[in-house]
Amino acid sequence: MLPQNKPMNGDLLPVSAEEISRLLEGAAPFRRREALSLLGSLTPRRRLTLPEAARLLATTDPMVWEKAAAMARSVREEIFGRRIVLFAPLYLSNDCVNNCLYCGFRQVNREARRITLSPAQAVREARFLEKKGYHRLLLVSGENPGKTDAEYLAQVLRAIYRETGMRILHVNAAPMPEEELALLKEAGAGVYQVFQETYHPQTYREMHPSGPKADYAWRLTCMDRALRAGFRDVGIGALLGLYDYRFEVLSVIRHAEFLLETHGAFPHTISVPRFKRAFGAPLTRPPRPVSDREFEKIVIVYRLAVPPAGVVVSTREPAALRERVLDIGASQISAGSKTDPGGYTQEARHADSEQFELDDTRPIEEIVRMILGRGYLPSLCTSCYRVDRTGETFTEMATDGHIRGFCLPNALLTLAEYAVAAEDPRLREECLAAVEEGTKEMEGSPLAGAFAQKLARVIAGEKDLFF
Ligand code: SF4
Repeated sequence: MLPQNKPMNGDLLPVSAEEISRLLEGAAPFRRREALSLLGSLTPRRRLTLPEAARLLATTDPMVWEKAAAMARSVREEIFGRRIVLFAPLYLSNDCVNNCLYCGFRQVNREARRITLSPAQAVREARFLEKKGYHRLLLVSGENPGKTDAEYLAQVLRAIYRETGMRILHVNAAPMPEEELALLKEAGAGVYQVFQETYHPQTYREMHPSGPKADYAWRLTCMDRALRAGFRDVGIGALLGLYDYRFEVLSVIRHAEFLLETHGAFPHTISVPRFKRAFGAPLTRPPRPVSDREFEKIVIVYRLAVPPAGVVVSTREPAALRERVLDIGASQISAGSKTDPGGYTQEARHADSEQFELDDTRPIEEIVRMILGRGYLPSLCTSCYRVDRTGETFTEMATDGHIRGFCLPNALLTLAEYAVAAEDPRLREECLAAVEEGTKEMEGSPLAGAFAQKLARVIAGEKDLFF
């Protein structure tokens, strides 16, 4: 067994697998009345505690889950209002020295076509996405110390910022030492994302047989190094389907609490990737499948237990489920994604260079329409990262309900900017009608006057105006 909660290079392990197992084993299901009364008391400030999350996950009463879903939606709206943030991943490299059993990028997959984009090629992909209307991208890379190290990632970050209008770039890459993470921060990375994949040490060992990723503790302590290196925002998550999802969810919540206790801020995002089959990966089915119903419960519990976190749902999930989770607490979704490096600017799909198969392949235009149709506001906002509403400040403002006052005008300004540039006249009209409707909600806001002026400037063709 790996040491549990023992220091590692001076860092305490954020999560003790023994503690999580004990919690799970001892968690009694809630009685209905007890659950309804607890759920009814939840707010962004009064969040679901870890033992309560364990008990809720042990509860099967559908009426309890109905109430939990309603509360997750209400907590999300108290924090972020109606906005749903949109982003796209930009895959930089599928060249990887690890051998994760579930991933198509694994080193021993001889059939994979290996691609590492040059900074110039990455700029080309970013430009394509910029034309589509995206302002925030998540750069994703496999782990290859000689090729896709911090120096390479910093070059890509600088090139995209220099040569495109992209407003914020987040990074999902390997765990690194503090000085390399500092280099990425200096180059302008917003959120640093590392998913633990599984928090269960034995399953982790089985899934990651070789390569640097075999080191469970090095991965688990990455966020502490990132925060010491100057990152204010980090993203965590577990790959659902490798082990008992209840264990993973409680571990993610514990990890989030640890970051709050030791660094003063919750993780900025919690992602909910679910196992998908990948070309050339030996694991073709999830060892512990997570059903759609369970997936919904996971989104609900994350929202109630870590209210300020952006709960991120990717295009791995089927369209109908992605739509459903918007009603129960998800706050960010990717759209029109490609998971093969260079995939946006090439005509044909190349399954032999993809990380995994996608399910929701709808383009951003359709996703925007879908979000509007469900009564939410698609948002391409990036303002918080650019005016330092990050880290501890963000956690505080989100918990107090103050972020919502910025999310609404920023969502409306970015939606108006998107509408002005839209090629499809019908989509333009739909977006502008939603902006007009949303503007009514600004009445009474201290920002109402300034907002009206900025909106008029955006409609006249100015870009990148925000609060
Ligand atoms: S105001 Fe901040 S929290 Fe709200 S959408 Fe913009 S960047 Fe996100």
